[in-house]
Amino acid sequence: MNVHLCFHGIGRCAREREPGESGYWVARDEFLRILDDVASHGGVALSFDDGNRSDVDVALPALKERGLTATFFPLAGRLLDPLSLASDDLRLLRDEGMTIGNHGWDHVPWRRLSPADAHREFVESRNVLEEAAGAPITTVALPLGQYDRRTLKRLRHEGYRTVYSSDRHPARDRAWLSARYSVGAGDDVGSVRRILTNHAGAREMRNVISSSVKRMR
Ligand SMILES: [Zn+2]
Repeated sequence: MNVHLCFHGIGRCAREREPGESGYWVARDEFLRILDDVASHGGVALSFDDGNRSDVDVALPALKERGLTATFFPLAGRLLDPLSLASDDLRLLRDEGMTIGNHGWDHVPWRRLSPADAHREFVESRNVLEEAAGAPITTVALPLGQYDRRTLKRLRHEGYRTVYSSDRHPARDRAWLSARYSVGAGDDVGSVRRILTNHAGAREMRNVISSSVKRMR
């Protein structure tokens, strides 16, 4: 079983695009302490959602210093946003050994999408991000962690090899639907260490059951 930690922004959230977004940002010093812990622990997967500029300004140099790699899930619809990663940044991340995945176009929930919206979120976004990164994209992270049976069926149909949720339990090796733990403003090195060392409790079991309900609904 693997633990996968997911970050959003690091530092101060200059502009919330959704109410409550600041709660998903982690202070820079705390992030660096958490990363030190991850590096010494080993075997922890890391990802960064939403394509905030802190991915290249803070996360990339910190990962390199510690010999770590991560997957980055930017949004195709934000490549021209000054607070977000641009096409060149995706190329840079890839050149530095990082992986680029897809987080869709508009950061909308992927349940109950019309066929046209589903095409933009699953296919057009991937095309744009592949062009920017200069590499094929085979993984997605579910925006806002939301999914249901139809979402997963569509993603499987589009050929994605791994789909990442935010369901807070360990994931089996090479699981097609793979859970992650979001790290947010309420976390510190202690709370993350508890995830890394104590991830087989009753809460995790409840989250595993909740995942199976979501994939069937
Ligand atoms: Zn997101």
